Amino acid sequence: PVAVRLRGITKTFGSNTVVRPLDLDIRDGEFFSILGPSGCGKTTLMRMITGFESPTDGSVELAGRDVSKVPTRDRDLNMLFQSYALFPHLSVYENVAFELRVRRTPKAELDTRVREALELVRLADFGDRKPNELSGGQRQRVALARAVVGRPAVVLLDEPLGALDQKLRKEMQFELKRMQREVGITFIYVTHDQEEALTMSDRIAVMSEGRVLQVASPIDIYDAPASRFVAGFIGSCNLIPARLEAGRAVTSGAGAIPADTAEAATRGLADGAEVVVAVRPERVTLHADPAAAPAGAVRGVISARVFLGDEWTVHVDAQGLTLTVQVPSGETGAALAALADGAEVAVSWTTAAGRI
Ligand code: ADP
Ligand code: MG
Repeated sequence: PVAVRLRGITKTFGSNTVVRPLDLDIRDGEFFSILGPSGCGKTTLMRMITGFESPTDGSVELAGRDVSKVPTRDRDLNMLFQSYALFPHLSVYENVAFELRVRRTPKAELDTRVREALELVRLADFGDRKPNELSGGQRQRVALARAVVGRPAVVLLDEPLGALDQKLRKEMQFELKRMQREVGITFIYVTHDQEEALTMSDRIAVMSEGRVLQVASPIDIYDAPASRFVAGFIGSCNLIPARLEAGRAVTSGAGAIPADTAEAATRGLADGAEVVVAVRPERVTLHADPAAAPAGAVRGVISARVFLGDEWTVHVDAQGLTLTVQVPSGETGAALAALADGAEVAVSWTTAAGRI
């Protein structure tokens, strides 16, 4: 079943079109992320789903009902923003209870629901506190409890972790995912942080300049980016110009890259076509001793490298290209550490390394 269906949704401010005609189906119960750089139209898209903004064109359906003309309060959804907007004079309990009181929920039911929500966010013992007696992470949890306590079908979260420091962000990413699983509510999560989207989502929509470029699982977005933008935006990627020849992608300098040419053929790309092959840094193998490299390996020199603890990121200049290579610490890493910058090395591609 579909929780949210957008058809031909468009938003224009003056002469500025910020969301282009766009179709999207978000499934019931999924953790769905909208990922894209700042200014690409994510918040505007969310505001059209909530009803804060009316679309210039197109329709919004919630659970099969067209709500395009329905005000926000009558849409079965709730929102969580980066600014938690808790009532400072109310206790945690009353902050969470607020919406249920407005709706005149019977006392016993209200109490059960508020306690359940506080338990969900692991703040069962914090009901009597005031917001200013909580840490940033705890305030975030209260806001989440408040967003789910009325059991809406959909909760929209617009960059909710943006104000938290890195360590707390990581913790909250796991927590949010756990909570979403527990309550089973459809989450629509907006972020410009690709790692955040990859770690939490069931599916991701990648947006750029008001368009959705790809909708897929994190693994497919990473392994099979549909366009150059997606490949470059999600994770680090070598984009290597090449030509298709006899089922292989052949670069001008760096040799033949095993790539999924069968798939390329389905897109009408024939021999001789100029393409760009996307190769993830972890799919490139570095050989510290070029003499011992396998046939087909390409020689180059180390132009830069950084040690990251569990791995190295190495730049290898090879025949006019600078390739980024990820080298695990350990044997190759140790051999690499012994080399000087400018040392000659070789790189080779693992099977089906590339994506055209
Ligand atoms: P994101 O959330 O991806 O950063 P937004 O949806 O906030 O992007 O904004 C997309 C574009 O729309 C931006 O160029 C922004 O300046 C513009 N925009 C957003 N809201 C308005 C508005 N109310 N009036 C005019 N322009 C707007
Ligand atoms: Mg935004």
